[in-house]
Amino acid sequence: MTSCIRPVHPFSRHAARPSTQQRSSGPEPQDHLWLSVQLPSDVSRYEWIAMSTINFFNQIRLLINVIGDFCTNESCPKMTAGPHFEFLWHDHRHTGTSDQQQIISCSAPVYIQNMMLWVEALLDDHQLLPLDHSTTFEYHIKQIYKRMFRFYAHAYYSHYRQIHQLGELDHFNLSFRHFILFSFAFQLLDYRDVRPLSSLVNSLLMPFTAIST
Ligand SMILES: [Zn+2]
Repeated sequence: MTSCIRPVHPFSRHAARPSTQQRSSGPEPQDHLWLSVQLPSDVSRYEWIAMSTINFFNQIRLLINVIGDFCTNESCPKMTAGPHFEFLWHDHRHTGTSDQQQIISCSAPVYIQNMMLWVEALLDDHQLLPLDHSTTFEYHIKQIYKRMFRFYAHAYYSHYRQIHQLGELDHFNLSFRHFILFSFAFQLLDYRDVRPLSSLVNSLLMPFTAIST
């Protein structure tokens, strides 16, 4: 891993400062995670999303270690979320002047490894992920969240029992809830992206539907 991937605590200095308006409005004004995803007044939207993405990347890296012994090419030959969803890896390669694209079915660990390497490369490259109002930023950041969501979806469907047995379920649930609140607060995911876990996502977002960001 490169130096780009530095830890950002989810309850950072910025995150721990709800505004007066946030404290006084909404159905769940004291929800710590909801407050922690709000844009701090002294940080741009793009910087905040980039910082938070590094945080989620690091959280997922830890969660991959939790399921690492169980999520193998043999146990999970396809990157699935239940019986109805398989995620294919879209491989983009720049070779010389040509741009090659390959769509492949691969095992879950291969997909997850590809995803992590791809996210890390994007976070390190400000040409591919410029911190400004650009279509490049919007396109890539939404792709990142779509693919990171798939890790949680696969883990819940295929490794829930093992995560529970290891005593890591609370940790997993907290990370996923944080990820979903952030993703929807900044329109980085939509309901089509989260169909494999739509009921769970709906239940997580329900208390906040009256709060605008
Ligand atoms: Zn697996």
